[in-house]
Amino acid sequence: SIRPLVAGNWKMNGTNASMPELVAIGGAFTHGFDVPVDALICPPATLLARAYDVLSSSAVRVGGQDCATSENGAHTGDISAEMLKDAGASFVIVGHSERRIDHGETNEVVNEKARAAWRAGLVAIICIGETQSQREKGLTLDILTAQIEGSVPSGATAANTVIAYEPVWAIGTGLTPTIPDVAQAHAHIRAELVRVLGDGANAMRILYGGSVKPSNAGELLAVANVNGALVGGASLKASDFLGIAEAY
Ligand code: 13P
Repeated sequence: SIRPLVAGNWKMNGTNASMPELVAIGGAFTHGFDVPVDALICPPATLLARAYDVLSSSAVRVGGQDCATSENGAHTGDISAEMLKDAGASFVIVGHSERRIDHGETNEVVNEKARAAWRAGLVAIICIGETQSQREKGLTLDILTAQIEGSVPSGATAANTVIAYEPVWAIGTGLTPTIPDVAQAHAHIRAELVRVLGDGANAMRILYGGSVKPSNAGELLAVANVNGALVGGASLKASDFLGIAEAY
């Protein structure tokens, strides 16, 4: 069976004043919080090294929210996967819908970023998901197929890659798909990963993301082929993040 991953994406939130939340999360996972999940926090890059220091004595890992495609060079403002690794990261999110929409990232760019993550020894969390209008047109499963074919590089394994299914319309809205819709999307993603990558993809983690909170985590995380959660807003408070992990 697949060990679940509960991952927090802090997005563009968090300052030094947020460190006590990390201390609380790390402390819980170190002392007596015996839930069978892996935990990850992806703070803004400005806090990554401090987050690593605070969490390195705990089982909680830290990750980046995006990475550049190249290793270094004249790319003002960009951060490479190697730099994230150097700051303590073991994962990096690539292809989040906010990157795809706000920064025009295509499947090709996301694919290259996933390979940059592997080059640095990071696990790539590759995000996919349909928009509201794509869903209304009945295109959800076709979009997921196209994003898998385009964004997931050949060579992706259960060890170097995590898939995150995040319906764009469910992010930060309080809306979630119905449980049957989540089950259908995740079953489709599993089947497509196996078709493209082979049987090894049966062991790959597929996270659900989009308005996950302690009160809905139990039913969402119990769905077949949902192997954890990618949590935005509710990951900013230790009590909410731990409440989601406790759904296991
Ligand atoms: P929310 O949990 O705030 O809806 O965000 C989900 C998300 O985008 C995580 O990457």
